Amino acid sequence: MKISDRLMQVKPSATLAVNAKALELKAQGREIISLSVGEPDVPPSAHIGAAAKQAIDDNFTRYTAVPGIPELREAVAGYFNRFYGVDAAVENTIVTNGGKQALYNLFQVLLNPGDEVLIPTPYWVSYPAMVQLAGGVPVTVAASAEADFKISVKDLKQALTPRTRVLLMNSPSNPTGACYTREEMDEIAAWAIENGLFIISDEIYDQLVYAPASPAGLAPWWQSNPGQVCVVNGLAKSFSMTGWRVGYVLGHPDLVKALGKIQGQSTSNVCSIAQKAALAALTGPFDALDTLRTEYARRRDIALDIMSGWKDVVCPKPDGAFYLFPDVHRLYNDTIPDSATLCTRLMEDAGVALVPGVAFGDDRCVRISYAVSEETLRDALGKISKVLFP
Ligand code: PLP
Repeated sequence: MKISDRLMQVKPSATLAVNAKALELKAQGREIISLSVGEPDVPPSAHIGAAAKQAIDDNFTRYTAVPGIPELREAVAGYFNRFYGVDAAVENTIVTNGGKQALYNLFQVLLNPGDEVLIPTPYWVSYPAMVQLAGGVPVTVAASAEADFKISVKDLKQALTPRTRVLLMNSPSNPTGACYTREEMDEIAAWAIENGLFIISDEIYDQLVYAPASPAGLAPWWQSNPGQVCVVNGLAKSFSMTGWRVGYVLGHPDLVKALGKIQGQSTSNVCSIAQKAALAALTGPFDALDTLRTEYARRRDIALDIMSGWKDVVCPKPDGAFYLFPDVHRLYNDTIPDSATLCTRLMEDAGVALVPGVAFGDDRCVRISYAVSEETLRDALGKISKVLFP
């Protein structure tokens, strides 16, 4: 079977080996606790499901306009107006098949062969592959645990070349949970704009920021520089709607048209029923968000408290998302030389699945998701503690 050169240059997901191992152990009857999930553990609010049921009852099941039904695009604009105080309109928005398709299509639309994309690292697993599939070159810009996993303008300057076209920001971050402050974000955005770059801001976790921190989204920068900034968001994380596959972009009308063109020739509209559910989610009520934030902040603190006893492990306190990304490299030795081996060992000996940091471009770390019940979290971290520090 001949597979295209384009696909052959893309690395297979480093998480696959861990998943395969988990399946193998489960098949042997072992109980494996998963702290590797990237989705909320609570269902969406009842009014969201009710809107989907109503859509089915109303036979709202035909093709819709490719960029989304107008009332949902308006609700997306309203979301940015409400939470970020900008003046967005329907023509600034497009509804996509998850944040993932938004990002994939953005690179297809923005990049010419050889164009470089600056990617703060640790990064979300799919960014480099998406850039490569669009003919671009991913350029990683490393941030360490000691720097709270944040990059600065100084780091970006060192990575800038005449081929740099896009800066990709992700705050709060998957996998680190790091959130840039308003000042940090403004400094980076100003530098990127000055240098003629286009900024893609992936803000899929923007509702999962824990007080006293607050989200530093780039919608205001889009407002002042519409041709150089766009914001990607979606319903998956904030509204517990991972399987519904609804994402969206805020951008210049020309960018929205270009995204519509590629979507029209590939996947067409997002599922009509999911669009009605998304409309219900984005127009509120938003009370469930407060409950979710309080609960995740509590679990984060429980996990950090347990991990504070882990000698030689460095883990900054993240302000958002539902991940911890401890730097565990000081525990490596001849038999456990990297994050993938450590995760395999933890699965075998502790019965807990984590994601190796190498999947996110940082082999010194592992990713722990705390989107699980308190009981599961305590149980899993207790088991890890016993294996790492017998
Ligand atoms: N961006 C980040 C940082 C993510 O973590 C994810 C999902 O894990 C996505 C984008 C894609 O989300 P969606 O499920 O909306 O495609």
